[in-house]
Amino acid sequence: MQKTIDEFLEMQPVVMKRLQGAYSKDRLAHAYLFEGPAGSGKTEITHFFVKLLLCESPVENVPCETCRSCQLYNSGNHTNVLFIEPDGQNIKIDQIRELIFKLNKTGLNTGRKIYVIEQADRMNNSSANALLKFLEEPEFNVTAILLTERLNALMSTIRSRCQLVSFRPLSRPKLMEKLIADGMTGSMAATVSMLTQSEEEAVLLAQDEQFAQARKTVLKLVEVAGSNVHEALLMLQAEWLPLFKEKEDAERGLDMLLFAYRDIASVKAGLETARTYPDMEETWKQMALQRSFTVLSKQLQAVLQAKQQLPRNMNRTLLMEQLMLNLQEG
Ligand SMILES: [Zn+2]
Repeated sequence: MQKTIDEFLEMQPVVMKRLQGAYSKDRLAHAYLFEGPAGSGKTEITHFFVKLLLCESPVENVPCETCRSCQLYNSGNHTNVLFIEPDGQNIKIDQIRELIFKLNKTGLNTGRKIYVIEQADRMNNSSANALLKFLEEPEFNVTAILLTERLNALMSTIRSRCQLVSFRPLSRPKLMEKLIADGMTGSMAATVSMLTQSEEEAVLLAQDEQFAQARKTVLKLVEVAGSNVHEALLMLQAEWLPLFKEKEDAERGLDMLLFAYRDIASVKAGLETARTYPDMEETWKQMALQRSFTVLSKQLQAVLQAKQQLPRNMNRTLLMEQLMLNLQEG
């Protein structure tokens, strides 16, 4: 569903002010680089901005939604706008060549032309160089919008040709508030908002049965790991390893484990910070009583260490078994 102008302003006040300001003063850049994490509204605000640039009768720097141009855009049929996204792994040079060819074709459609390059960091060297040439000789009435979640992966020469617009991530309280308003339980919202800043991804996670199972398994392991190493090792084989089989899952599992110990440490320290597992508060209180800060800190370190070792392709079973032992030592 399309967001309202107020929602855009609340989500990205600085970005919106800047884009609307440039538009109203007729001081548009030839190329914009929208950078920021997933879920920060880059795509939605791109649609807003493109529509505004093309709208025939905008009202207070907001597209009217009713003119011919707005209608064409909303139906995906506006011929003055070109979108490019990676074809497979990369944005290929042929895609850039075709784009430039289309933009150079004169007389077909008058007025401003806009091209949007999604995941611009996925341009390989030859594509980036082809685009760079085009950016270096900006055409009148052509506006570029490049999108990226990985600013550092983008060629610096491309970056320097664009006006950088940074999107800040949605704050965790804001994200939680939204998720709960949309019907998610408070405890689930608290957990998923620790794992992603993207509203969309948060909703998908919460609906995923495997994720719900993962959450249960993590919490169970924290309880078992503290009291009985044999049981913990058994549980590892029977429940943990089958559930967190893929590398990404294993990483997420360790993150979730880390957040559990962080919760316990916060409880012990009497911090009012929002927990990752608010539904475990009573259990955390008991566990916090049984542990010293030194022990808790060692346990946090142990999980962190496992997390750091994970990408090095170690034997994952061994790594987790070692972690169980380290959690015991505490
Ligand atoms: Zn319009």
